[in-house]
Amino acid sequence: MDEPIPFDSYEEGRYLNYWRVDPTIRRILERNYDPEDFADAVDHLDTFGELVGHVVADHAEYIDENGPTLETYDRHGAVKNHVRYQAEQFENERLVYEAGIIADVFEAPPGRAEPLPMTHYFGMLYLLSYADPGFACPVAMTAGAAYVLERFGDERVEPYYRSLVSREYEQLIEGAMFLTEEQGGSDVGATETTATFDETSGYWALDGEKWFCSNIDAEGTLALGRIPGAPEGTDGLSMFIVPHQDPEHGVLTKGERHSFDGYVPLERLNDQRYRRLKDKLGTISVPTGEVELTGARGLLVGEQERGFKQMAVMLNVERLSNAAAATGIMGRALLESRIHAANREAFGHSLDEFPLMREDLVDMTVDHEAATIFTFDAARAFSEHVTAHRSADDTSAEEAYRLMRALVPIAKLKTGRMAVDTTSYAMEIQGGNGYVRDFVTHRLLRDAQVLPIWEGTENILSLDVLRAFATEASHEVVLDTIDDHVVSVSHPALTELAETVQRARDELEVAIETVATSETDYAELSAKRLAHFIFDVYTAALLLADAETSLAAGDARLALVASRFVTTQLVDEPARGITSDDRLPIEHFDTIVHFAPADVDVLTETPITGD
Ligand SMILES: Cc1cc2nc3c(=O)[nH]c(=O)nc-3n(C[C@H](O)[C@H](O)[C@H](O)COP(=O)(O)OP(=O)(O)OC[C@H]3O[C@@H](n4cnc5c(N)ncnc54)[C@H](O)[C@@H]3O)c2cc1C
Repeated sequence: MDEPIPFDSYEEGRYLNYWRVDPTIRRILERNYDPEDFADAVDHLDTFGELVGHVVADHAEYIDENGPTLETYDRHGAVKNHVRYQAEQFENERLVYEAGIIADVFEAPPGRAEPLPMTHYFGMLYLLSYADPGFACPVAMTAGAAYVLERFGDERVEPYYRSLVSREYEQLIEGAMFLTEEQGGSDVGATETTATFDETSGYWALDGEKWFCSNIDAEGTLALGRIPGAPEGTDGLSMFIVPHQDPEHGVLTKGERHSFDGYVPLERLNDQRYRRLKDKLGTISVPTGEVELTGARGLLVGEQERGFKQMAVMLNVERLSNAAAATGIMGRALLESRIHAANREAFGHSLDEFPLMREDLVDMTVDHEAATIFTFDAARAFSEHVTAHRSADDTSAEEAYRLMRALVPIAKLKTGRMAVDTTSYAMEIQGGNGYVRDFVTHRLLRDAQVLPIWEGTENILSLDVLRAFATEASHEVVLDTIDDHVVSVSHPALTELAETVQRARDELEVAIETVATSETDYAELSAKRLAHFIFDVYTAALLLADAETSLAAGDARLALVASRFVTTQLVDEPARGITSDDRLPIEHFDTIVHFAPADVDVLTETPITGD
């Protein structure tokens, strides 16, 4: 059983080990990894939590005030395309990549025969997002590009793959993805960029304008373009590596880049122009800009006209990374809120003695538990898919894929919005200070606000869930997985909750059938509500199964968390619950919010009913 965390002894959520102050991610990762993998990973996660909580967070705060800038032309008017970064940003890159955030899940780390499961990468990204959610974006695109090249690359792009997964910073490159054009972000099929093969050079020449390009000067960018004569829409798109440096000069590693005085010599740049960087609300550490491709040289990745399908593979990594980052931001916002409420006095008491603040913090904690358990279950399914695929176990790869295909868009759409809500409320808990730039809640909210937008908006992802049901019959495996979890629950304290979840699961099945047999307009109209409904029922089942495991170990905390989640999300309480005399947030505050041990007897004293 975890010890309570002494939140009242901290001044703020800084100079802490983010792994150690977050029992939620510790429990969820431990239950998600295979035990041997976890034994190999746990020390790395602990070291990384310490690193992020200290020097990475220091740098992140500085970078937020001193972000990258674009130097478009040199003094003679020649294109310079140089993005200037502060030394702190390079240092963060070195520290984070050399900690193995990408390398460890693609290559066997020292002392192991196999890479760690993909879940490990998502866990590290979660911790990184406590301090620098902006930097999580290039890291995610590096992971995504590496995975795409692992799946579809040939020997020509192999040097790029090797550098994307490098453990040595000097040999490393980062990824990016240029999809969005002015006329089409959600509607990727509207892409107008063309790709023409140049027989003389042996490269493809890309021409067009990309409207939102994060990590704009990445050394291993993937872009979509249409080969002349290819069909309209997404079916006609092909994928290319279009690096910052002309590929004729080979792979531009970080080490080589830093060896130049000032910037990469003009004659080595690829034929593209960085028009301007966007003046963004947040995620300042990642430069996002507009790019004109003017015959930029590219190498084909995979097959012609399979670009969108291959990009969908990358998008799964990006969307899941987005969810991991969202849950990490929620963790940080919650940490700041727990600390502040434990220390700040008003009306002669600490804030967290007041019933309303107790309810706020209990519900923020339950939200964080819910978002994290769902996200990392999606990450587990993704990880199993990758591992099975690598070992050519097609049946297991397919089964994990069908589940992950539905869970990934739902994880992304739910957690993006939850991160905005949590960071916004965390600001309010800090009072007036929370709104001021000196306090981290200011940045957390600014950084969180992009999470529902990039990598697909909530509407677009809701429609994607319908597509997963139509093409992969993913709903069958979603419902089966819910059943498996509910059936695993046998502890008497959880019986009523399990019955409530079972009823909701049956309603969910009817809802899915209704949507599947509806006219398109009604199916679309219902898509977002359906996605939210799936999240609620699936998460309740996960929490119950986890509560069962914890109760067997004598710990009642998760049963209380599951009870609160089920009551607030799946039960329509009369008079909005006011007549119920439910005092759970007051009575179990220390257990839920501060992780104070609670043995199983508390459930006999305050039975949890779930209806
Ligand atoms: C900071 C930042 C960085 C980014 N970085 C990148 C990057 O690196 N690479 C990249 O390719 N892109 C990037 N993007 C672009 C991003 O992915 C798109 O902005 C996003 O996908 C939405 O596309 P759009 O802007 O064209 O909006 P639109 O597609 O025009 O959507 C506008 C609104 O309409 C809604 N909508 C659209 N279609 C439907 C529909 N069928 N039904 C219901 N509602 C609908 C959307 O949900 C949204 O609310 C970035 C964006 C931002 C803000």
